[in-house]
Amino acid sequence: MRTNNLGYPRIGSNRELKKACELYWSGKITSDELVATGEKIRKDNWLLQANAGIDLIPSNDFSFYDQVLDLSLTLGAIPEQYKEFSEKNSELDLYFAMARGAQKDNLDVKAMEMTKWFDTNYHYIVPEFTRNQKFSLFSEKIINEFKEAKKLGIKTKPVLIGPVSYLLLGKEKQTGFHRIELINNLLPVYFEILKKLEAEDVEYIQFDEPFLALNLSDIERAAITRTYNEINNHFPTIKIIVANYFDCFGENLRTALSLPVHTLHLDLVRCSLQLDDILASKYLSDKTHFSLGIVDGRNIWKNDFKESLSLIKKAINAFGKDRILIAPSCSLLHSPCDLELETNETTLTPEIKQWLAFSKQKIEEVVLLKKFACSELDAKNHPEYIENTIANAKRKTATIIHNETVKNRVSKIAEKDSQRDNSFIIRRKKQIEALQLPLFPTTTIGSFPQTTEVRSWRAKFKKGELTQQHYDELIQKETEETIRFQEETGIDVLVHGEFERNDMVEYFGEQLDGFTFTKNGWVQSYGSRCVKPPIIYGDVSRPKPMTVKWSEFAQSLTSKWVKGMLTGPVTILQWSFVRNDQPRATTCTQIALAIRDEVVDLENAGIKIIQIDEPAIREGLPLRKEEWNNYLDWAIKAFRIAASGVKDDTQIHTHMCYSEFNDIIQNIADMDADIITIECSRSQMELLDAFADFKYPNEIGPGVYDIHSPRVPSSKEMLHLLEKATAVIPADQLWVNPDCGLKTRHWDETKKALIEMVDAAKKMRVLA
Ligand code: GLN
Ligand code: ZN
Repeated sequence: MRTNNLGYPRIGSNRELKKACELYWSGKITSDELVATGEKIRKDNWLLQANAGIDLIPSNDFSFYDQVLDLSLTLGAIPEQYKEFSEKNSELDLYFAMARGAQKDNLDVKAMEMTKWFDTNYHYIVPEFTRNQKFSLFSEKIINEFKEAKKLGIKTKPVLIGPVSYLLLGKEKQTGFHRIELINNLLPVYFEILKKLEAEDVEYIQFDEPFLALNLSDIERAAITRTYNEINNHFPTIKIIVANYFDCFGENLRTALSLPVHTLHLDLVRCSLQLDDILASKYLSDKTHFSLGIVDGRNIWKNDFKESLSLIKKAINAFGKDRILIAPSCSLLHSPCDLELETNETTLTPEIKQWLAFSKQKIEEVVLLKKFACSELDAKNHPEYIENTIANAKRKTATIIHNETVKNRVSKIAEKDSQRDNSFIIRRKKQIEALQLPLFPTTTIGSFPQTTEVRSWRAKFKKGELTQQHYDELIQKETEETIRFQEETGIDVLVHGEFERNDMVEYFGEQLDGFTFTKNGWVQSYGSRCVKPPIIYGDVSRPKPMTVKWSEFAQSLTSKWVKGMLTGPVTILQWSFVRNDQPRATTCTQIALAIRDEVVDLENAGIKIIQIDEPAIREGLPLRKEEWNNYLDWAIKAFRIAASGVKDDTQIHTHMCYSEFNDIIQNIADMDADIITIECSRSQMELLDAFADFKYPNEIGPGVYDIHSPRVPSSKEMLHLLEKATAVIPADQLWVNPDCGLKTRHWDETKKALIEMVDAAKKMRVLA
């Protein structure tokens, strides 16, 4: 039996990589210094795993930005627009230019598109393909990193994304072909890489083929079969591991089991039952090894050794010890680095800390599980086993987790709790009456610029360097100025600006019971951007109102309507580490009830318009379509529970970004928000088509300008987009707003853009 790791976090336990990258980008350190930081992180990670007792230690899991972009560079899949830049710059600068765009020496190149990595909050750079795309070995990173580890005395297992998943992760930039057809051009470059690694005496290579967890076409499945047959023909002595994660193989099981590869990696955390399917399958060969992904790579809970060992024993009985590897469920890229760095007992209490494991601890768990599974002695006598059992037993009964009032309330939820009093048609009449808004009402999505000053006030207040009163005064002043600006600009529905909020999930988590936070639990989101998700450890409840004070204050300043701003239950769930001792649906419903109480309190405080943001609804969709309905049922219901406590004439908005709505438009309509605002400008209103085709009944605010760019759009451009919108959606259903919140923008560009936006709305009113 061996231990196997699929990937280790590369950000460094103190975010050294983030810091070094940002210093390099701003010209404060040299490329040599950045490269040295990378080397140090790789070395530390390899030694840490070797010392812990991992047998198959990954290399090429390191990346300065993203592993998919690394592979594009390796394979020479460099889009035409970077050609000139590539000739005049180093490989490293070309790489960063593809990731982030660059303006240098009269060259101006845009960044490549970025999107979410399966159902995680990690983002990768989308490969771009043209018809007859050629590939060639451009970067030797994977070979260099293997050699680098070898010098340290460690023979690693290089990891890379398999050819089929690589193609499927990308996008066709021309019509008339499907990217999977490029497999013929692509395979020779993979062979070249394998050849070079073979010359370096590689033993294992891991190919990630996570698309095996998705619904594949016959052609795609055939491409997988062909790929690994050819690899086996050319390199019969290299031990090939094909890794699948985030779900089971589903209808791809036969294909996977029939591959002539040394090892298949399984995600047994997401799907422990697949082991039974595999054992029952007639396609199971008597040679394949299985890497049992049994330690959760996506969450922060301590492994349950007792449960894991019973699963491992089942596998041992079927395959024998020699054909088994013990592993985390997926790359540890999605876990924070090291729990031991959490030394602040007020942020993370010892009681909760004993239930957790971050990457370093997960590596130790993998090694311990192998030890217990192999030892002839009863595991129950090992001190580590005993400690694990006690911690997990305590978690089951801990009083800080279980709140009977919350559980009771969830069990008593009735159908009417997820329904407004009346249908949208009736509500709409009452809202028109109560709110008296013009045609094409203008509004924004919530946040206004978070200046360095605003951020410094929050930081100082947290450190105790500002009193509550002084801090409140500063935020009040900023809020008042924002209200005045919106009034002067002629915006119809105002917002308070969200200056008191650090982050749209953390702000609520900090005020809800059942949440806790880390000081250093960073996880890479994209490039140098890391997030620190809250940990939901217990039943969620709301001890007191969370946002009423600021909304009430803002409303008191003006005779216009000020929108209340909340984050929805699905988004709070999706962007947190979620408890694994009850279904996600239950946790989501608990959050929904807390938000519902907040909505009702806002209404009672005189707030007539309330927005519940749900930008993460779409990303929560399960990977396999068969599971969509179940998820959508509870997720949409959670939103409705949050939104349905108010009277007909209180107007509920929701907001979503980075989403395509085509295949879930019915569910979006089922949310029954009075208004939905969506990101639309970058697609030139294309995203609106889904709503138009569906004849979406409620009101919509398609974003008319891109808030990701400092560029100020003209009223003419926005007018053009609005005209496009009115061509497909009736005018009296349309709102006018930016794509998303303005917190990352500067004030000068924000002011100019909103003045233009209001001008565009006014022109539309004349035209209509
Ligand atoms: N109300 C939030 C804001 O404006 C919404 C952010 C989001 O959709 N991601 O910042
Ligand atoms: Zn948004």
